[in-house]
Parts: sequence; structure tokens; C-alpha cells
Amino acid sequence: MSMRYLPLLLVAACTTAPPPPSEHHESQVFDAAIHRDAVDRIVTAALASQGAWTALEGLVAAAPKRLAGSPGYDRAVEWAQEEMRRAGLVNVRLEPCMAPHWERGSVESLTVMGGDALAVCALGGSVGTAPEGIEAEVVEVRGRAELAALGERAKGRFVFFNEPMDPTLRDPFEAYGRAVWQRGFAANEAAKLGGVGAIVRSMSLRKDDFPHTGSMRYADGFEKVPAVAISTRAADALSARLAAGEPCVLRLELSCRSLPDAPSANVVGELMGRERPDEILVVGGHLDAWETGDGAHDDGAGCVQAIEAARLLLATGLRPRRTIRVVLYANEENGMAGAHAYAKTHAGELGRHVLALESDRGGFAPRGFDTDAQPEGMAVLGAMLALLEPIGAARLEVGGGGVDISTLAPAGVPLVGLVPEAARYFDVHHAASDTLAAVHPRELQMGAAAMAALLYMVAENEATFPRNEPKPAPR
Ligand SMILES: [Zn+2]
Repeated sequence: MSMRYLPLLLVAACTTAPPPPSEHHESQVFDAAIHRDAVDRIVTAALASQGAWTALEGLVAAAPKRLAGSPGYDRAVEWAQEEMRRAGLVNVRLEPCMAPHWERGSVESLTVMGGDALAVCALGGSVGTAPEGIEAEVVEVRGRAELAALGERAKGRFVFFNEPMDPTLRDPFEAYGRAVWQRGFAANEAAKLGGVGAIVRSMSLRKDDFPHTGSMRYADGFEKVPAVAISTRAADALSARLAAGEPCVLRLELSCRSLPDAPSANVVGELMGRERPDEILVVGGHLDAWETGDGAHDDGAGCVQAIEAARLLLATGLRPRRTIRVVLYANEENGMAGAHAYAKTHAGELGRHVLALESDRGGFAPRGFDTDAQPEGMAVLGAMLALLEPIGAARLEVGGGGVDISTLAPAGVPLVGLVPEAARYFDVHHAASDTLAAVHPRELQMGAAAMAALLYMVAENEATFPRNEPKPAPR
């Protein structure tokens, strides 16, 4: 534990017993203000550019569909290497892994017999149906209690999971976290009760016609039944029909399928530290995306922000003491193969990984960061983020940082995640509405600026950032 990192903020807050003003003590207090000019230069450079947006345009043009294992992902890998080199990164390389390979196929339809088609998409990993489809009645459950009480009524039917994200919660991510069990486990729960398939209300706070996909998994020992999401409006319409007691037989046709695992890769590039190049800060996002949309927010935004953060430091001549390593991860959406491969490939140097930063909550206006850093590190981050007050990105929350960097937690690497404005993220998350048009160039760029500033301060600071206690490995 470094005494240098006694945070200025805590000292300032201590009004009853101020520390004695000795020179020795002053030298031990971490003073983020020494970085004020550098942060200002980074923000100025960011505002004068639309680097992140231009890069995102390039990614979406080159590889709009880039789920793990697909040819689109390979195109994204090509794009990423070129973009890193263009940004001035060095040691640009691929780090291979094997990723799951699931294909949506061309047939996706859910219709009410004698009525309308519902806006539907298969959940990632779902089995398809036989070509003739599945026809069955449907039974609705709103939440776990209704599911537990369903009993025989599920037999031979579709089970319709219609618990909405809770709009009363302050944090949309918490609302997502509480509702998303339906997407992940609906197929298993339906199969356990003898159901023929699972229909899940989309994880969105918006009422529209976009179905939202996402990963699901099958448990051993149960039949694999198909699982789909329907749009929030379709879910409301189906629910109303059931409530009115109208006859409701549904017909589902899906041609999705799983293929053998496919070769994939993380894309890595570096900005070498000027004094301590073997001490590393990781910054990244995930290069794969669901192919319902273009993955512009999720997580094209995070990828281009990671590259842009490094580019801004090069453009401003602010090459920090330590190395900044940009990692664009493979297969976050349906397997975490890239995240596990990174931790394994770099196991020998994780002790010299100072911090890992991820952007994977969309390219909206930055509000701050979340972190799993322990109190000493938390205080240092708080002092640093005070310098981002002028751009509205000074908030510091307790959190996990991000899925891709979570595999570094067992080595005690402190994790940090960019926290953007969250109100509209789930409107587009994993849906066809996640396009370039949904991303605002200035908001995206300011996220990159906030990341660059934080990376610079941690990478430049003379004392090394406090490490965490090791944590259990993520699944
Ligand atoms: Zn994501």
C-alpha cells in the first residue's frame, strides 16, 4: 500500500484534526491537480476531433454483422488492426482463441394463428424448429412466483415470460440485471415443465417494435426447446389478447443453429510507456456484436473509444510513464472466449497489470466510472475524476468495470468501467435499432476523452495504483 496515495479529497474532508503541515506529509498526499493541464489538453484535443465517430463509421461499414465465429467478425478483426495502426499504436497483433459459432439463419417468424405476426428474434444460442415449425397454445407468467405456480398448465404450450424491466429502479442496469434471468433461463424453465418453447419480453424500457436478442444457455438434462424474444409492444399485445380470453395458438418457425467452435481472436495494440513500459494499463471493449443491429453502441462505441483514448494521448504528446494496451475482445456476447484467452495468454504479466478499463455501456454522454477498486484506490480515482467535473464525467460508483476485464480480477487487477448516461441504452441494446444513427458524435467523443484522461493520470502517476485483493474467477 503506497502512502503516496493518501487522497487529497479525504484530507480536505477532515475538518476536525488536520494533518500537521510538514513537507514530508505533503509529499505523501496524492494531488490530482498536477494533472489538470494534461486533462485540459486531452479534452481540448478531443473536442477538436471526431476521431471516435469516424472510426465507428468505418467499423460499421466494414463489419456491421460481427458475431463470434462469423465471416463478419473476421472483417472486424481486419478493420481493428488497420485502425490501431492508423491511430499510431504499435505491436498490433492478433491473440487467437476458439469461440462458439451460432447462426441466426433466414427464417424467424412467430404468428398468432388467424391473426398477426409478432416482432420476434431468436435468442442467441437457441435451437431452431423443424421446417414445419411448432404450433401450440401459450401461457403467460409475470415473474418467478407465477412461474413457480404454473405446474401442468405449461405442458405442451409455449411459456411467455412477460416480467418487464422495473421502471421504478434508479439504475436501468439494475432493472436489466433483475429481469434478464428470463432471457438466460427461459428455455430451461419452459422445458422443465414440459413446455414446447420460450417466448421472452424484450429487455427494454421502451415501447416499440424491435425485438432484442441476447445470450441464453441450455442446462444439461432437459430438452432443448427454442427461445425467442418479442418486442415490448408485441408482448403487451399478446398479454392483452390472453387477458381478454381470446383463443391464442402461436406458430413458431426458426432456422437458427449452432455450429462447431470457430477460430477467433482478440486484437491488441499498444502505446508504449516512456519510463515503465512493462507496467500495463488495459483499455478495451468487445469487437463482437449481435447481428440484429450494427452493434454501434454495443460495443462498437467501446472499441473505438479505447483506440481513440490512446490516439488522443499520442496526438497531445502526452505519452505516459506506463504502457497503455488496447484490447478489443472476441466473443463477449455469447461466451467470453476472448476475455478468458487474454487472462491465460498474459498470466505471467498480470502482476504488472496496473489497471483495466472497459467501455461497454454504450456511447452515450459520459457521467463517470464504476470500479471494484478497494478504498485506497477508490479514493485515488475520486480525486482524479474531480478533474472531469467540467465535462460532467466525475461520478464514481462501486461496480464491476466490465465483463471482458473481469477475468483479471483473480490477479488483483483493479477494474474500472466507463459509466455513460443510461436512460436510452436498453432502447437499442441487442436490437436492430443499435445503428450508427443512434450514436451522437460528441457524446461518443467525450467518453473517449474521459477515458484518455483517466488512463493518463493512472499511467503517468509516479506511484503505482493500489492493487486489489484477488477475487474468484468469473464463470
Ligand atoms: Zn456489450
